[in-house]
Amino acid sequence: MANKSLKKDQLKNLLNKVAQNSQLIAPIQSDGITLFRPVKSGEGVVLEYQNSVMPPKDYFFPMSEKMFSYDTSDPSWAIKLEEGVPSRVLFGARPCDVKSILLLDKVFDAEFRDDLYLDKRNKTTIIALSCNECRHTCFCGAFGISPGEAEGADILMTDLGDRYLVEVLTEKGEKLAATCSDLLTDDDGSGAGAKEKAVAPAKEKQLNISIEGVKAKLDNMFDHPIWATESLRCMGCGTCTFVCPTCHCFDIVDFNNQSSVGYRYRCADSCQFGNFTRAAGGHQPRPSKTERIRQRFMHKLRYFVDRYGDTACVGCGRCLEKCPVNLDIAQIINKVKEVG
Ligand code: SF4
Ligand code: SF4
Repeated sequence: MANKSLKKDQLKNLLNKVAQNSQLIAPIQSDGITLFRPVKSGEGVVLEYQNSVMPPKDYFFPMSEKMFSYDTSDPSWAIKLEEGVPSRVLFGARPCDVKSILLLDKVFDAEFRDDLYLDKRNKTTIIALSCNECRHTCFCGAFGISPGEAEGADILMTDLGDRYLVEVLTEKGEKLAATCSDLLTDDDGSGAGAKEKAVAPAKEKQLNISIEGVKAKLDNMFDHPIWATESLRCMGCGTCTFVCPTCHCFDIVDFNNQSSVGYRYRCADSCQFGNFTRAAGGHQPRPSKTERIRQRFMHKLRYFVDRYGDTACVGCGRCLEKCPVNLDIAQIINKVKEVG
């Protein structure tokens, strides 16, 4: 579909229309922070943010979700599966977060197909939003991501000042755009050039990090002392993993309050916790912070590359900003590159 244009003052009308036809999930301000939440209309949707505190990952891989329930008083002992999500539109996801969803696809829509994840993924249309500015912690360029491109999105919108450039990228996007066609006009051909200018600050101001050679170095660094040194200041709080749009480790928890009804939940887990991967019988293959810190960075920059051909970091900068002791992946990348 040819590029479209949306007048700035029509955005709210577009979101209102989207919300009439499906669940709309969009960035809002709540207690001073930007978060993605289901909204009933375009009212209160914020756009002047560089990145949300938490990624929209929760709408594909929630922090906790009920998988099924059972009732032992039911003679059939049938397992009751949870109902799926409604058809929905995720609006305002930034290019780094859209890329992170493609990385989650590699895990949950691959050899083992995860129905809980796929239900949410297949029923969601993604309208991404280019970045005109970036945070001081952003470094998506290190991973080949551009603030003005969003592979994996169905529609990409870019703020051009007086209007939005609307690029319809997939069939899902075409269907959604068709429902709002009265608000969209054909781009006059100036949109692509204007987009380049609009996203230039986000490209230029982000951290200048390169991952060239990092994987090859890490291949020989399993026993390197850097992990013990770096882990000294880690508090094992897990914040870095919970704010990360690509972290996807989980635990399975069964809950039964001494009644006949029981539930099984999937709950996000963190490789930075002492109980992570502790096996029955008490064996813990990663008994200290040294092994746990190594696991976090090796998984993102080495093991994921070996398995899926991509890094499990998109340079969103959230862990750089939120770690209470400033232990961040950008620093680690630079330190690994210095190893002789
Ligand atoms: S590791 Fe840090 S910078 Fe990379 S995607 Fe996760 S939170 Fe963002
Ligand atoms: S946020 Fe920082 S202190 Fe907390 S677990 Fe991660 S690296 Fe350690």
